[in-house]
Amino acid sequence: MQKLSGRTALLLAAGIFSAQPVLAQDAAALTPHQQLARDIYRDVIAFRTARGQEQVPAMVSYLVERFKKAGFSDADIRVTDYDSDGEKTQGLMITYRAKAGGTEKPIVLLGHMDVVDALEKDWVRPPFTLTEEDGYFFGRATMDNKYGITNLTSTFLRLKAEGWQPSRDLVLVFSGDEETGMISTEAQAKYVAENIDPAFVLNSDAGGVALAEDGTPVAFQVQSAEKTYATYELTVNNPGGHSSRPRADNAIYELAAALEKIAAYKFPVQATDLTRSYFATAGKLTPGELGQAMLRFAADPSDASAIATLQADPESVGTLGTTCVATMLQAGHAENALPQSATATVNCRIFPGTGAAATEARLKEIVGNDDVMFKLITDVTESPESKLRADVKAAVRYSLDKRYPGLTILPYMESGGTDGMHYRGLGYDTVAISAAAMKASDMFAHGLNERLPVASFYGGLDHWYWILKKLAE
Ligand SMILES: [Zn+2]
Repeated sequence: MQKLSGRTALLLAAGIFSAQPVLAQDAAALTPHQQLARDIYRDVIAFRTARGQEQVPAMVSYLVERFKKAGFSDADIRVTDYDSDGEKTQGLMITYRAKAGGTEKPIVLLGHMDVVDALEKDWVRPPFTLTEEDGYFFGRATMDNKYGITNLTSTFLRLKAEGWQPSRDLVLVFSGDEETGMISTEAQAKYVAENIDPAFVLNSDAGGVALAEDGTPVAFQVQSAEKTYATYELTVNNPGGHSSRPRADNAIYELAAALEKIAAYKFPVQATDLTRSYFATAGKLTPGELGQAMLRFAADPSDASAIATLQADPESVGTLGTTCVATMLQAGHAENALPQSATATVNCRIFPGTGAAATEARLKEIVGNDDVMFKLITDVTESPESKLRADVKAAVRYSLDKRYPGLTILPYMESGGTDGMHYRGLGYDTVAISAAAMKASDMFAHGLNERLPVASFYGGLDHWYWILKKLAE
């Protein structure tokens, strides 16, 4: 997953919310289910499932044993090998079969088993050992995404132990290289489309309860769309020459002129039902002029002064449309030589439905110089916005009300980067609804000393239980 949207930080900073703080959990008084979940969490964090370590298959074997012991049969378990750019990895799918007569389409539940690597020497505590300290669980992927894997797995085991039979198939789909090549994700998504054809997909790898710094809940965020990530290299070549004999054309000047045009350009403002309702809700939670601008934009997406205010806010500008920005620069080869080439890297976050090709065409038009060559250097996965279906929203409401009665549900668009985009790309409504409850200041996914509040770990263990009961009973 990506870090929570910056908007969260802003909402949290506002600190204008009232609700009960999460209570600390007494470690001595764990229920059997809490103990089981904690054991799984400890065990899966111990697998260093980072690129280069090839530990995903070992983690898969561990999980398979857990599911078998709980009563899932070989026919319910599907393990697949993948080669992710030379790295051996695996995917795991577990089907919880519907009782006889179930006719509703299945539900697919996503998590990823791989992690961004962590170096022991850089961490205060060992990254691949679960450490409980000061009210936190520390360790790589305590948040991203072994909390999701643990929560979904332990929920399946708990429901099975209760003898519960769902009214429709529920399928866990755990990928093995979400943080890198997404080879397993792509193949699994294709398999799901061809063989399972679910009603919708729920992802454990984003979203969740945003807490204010004093621990009060602000909103439950539902990741409902991801912008398309595309990076271009813009290059100008030139015959060069001696710097004592400048020529009229110069690779650096030409590239710089192109970049100035891109800097000055604003892509057209776009609004969808999702982004308008996001601003309508966020506006109520955000004080001052910015909150007012959000409300005005939600009411009228052509309101020029609201747009100007939101475009000046780095946390909001990405929700208004496509953005492209220069991020790297390389040019010349000697201080006394005319540059033979100059290259800039331009990273774009493309609004759903716009398309990378159209964005590149627009950039070329803005630059207006055929000497500037464009090269797309990233794989591009385009994905449409997903609906937060009424049945899914009702299930989230039902589960949420047991923890945080009446908490606002806030669908949002993320800058992009989870397994979900591949399922959206195949036409499945996919929303990420993690059980985690976090302050912005506790967010260390991908970074050093990643952590999850202990209270959030235990507090979220019923999250999927109630959601699945509501959606499949
Ligand atoms: Zn993730």
